[in-house]
Amino acid sequence: MLNIIIFGAPGSGKGTQSERITSKYKLLHVSTGDMLRAEIAAKTTLGELAQSYISKGHLLPDEVIIDMLAEKLKHSKKNHNGIIFDGFPRTVAQAQALDKMLQEHNQHVSLMLELEVEKDELIKRLVKRGEQSGRDDDNLEVIQNRLQVYHHQTEPVMDFYKNAGKYNHIQGNGTVEEIFELIANVLDKHTDK
Ligand code: AMP
Repeated sequence: MLNIIIFGAPGSGKGTQSERITSKYKLLHVSTGDMLRAEIAAKTTLGELAQSYISKGHLLPDEVIIDMLAEKLKHSKKNHNGIIFDGFPRTVAQAQALDKMLQEHNQHVSLMLELEVEKDELIKRLVKRGEQSGRDDDNLEVIQNRLQVYHHQTEPVMDFYKNAGKYNHIQGNGTVEEIFELIANVLDKHTDK
């Protein structure tokens, strides 16, 4: 099984690249952000809670996210070659919980891909996305918060995977195609092993 974590700041292209990776390598795409937005659209209790954090650019509590993901893994069909985790883990506690959850399914994280994009470019992309999609956390004030949260709470997750020898750096500026090629090189090398 190929279990990948796609990692990077908001606006780094995780969702776009996940779609490409998912279709080429037949993976299941698990995006905690998409799951939470679906809960909001369905007006569930979890959705209501999620909205209050997302609208401020804050992270939901670890236990809420971990429980949601555990449910997802328990009920997902097994007709894929692995999973791509997009937007998760965002804290070291979530990374530790993911290891434990995968172990329970006799699996492990294969590798992490970090898409690195400079801050000015991230802001430009997110503002543009907000104008096009109407995602209400893609406005300048909330974007600034999300980038702060990323720096303080999420970046340490990189060290967790560096220490485990699973970290791969991807230069995230360029066209979608160019970046996908860099990613595919890493994944092809890994799957050839
Ligand atoms: P995303 O679509 O991945 O950028 O996520 C949008 C928002 O959902 C984030 O700004 C957080 O408020 C929330 N969220 C998504 N994933 C997580 C996570 N793993 N832990 C905590 N909050 C999350």
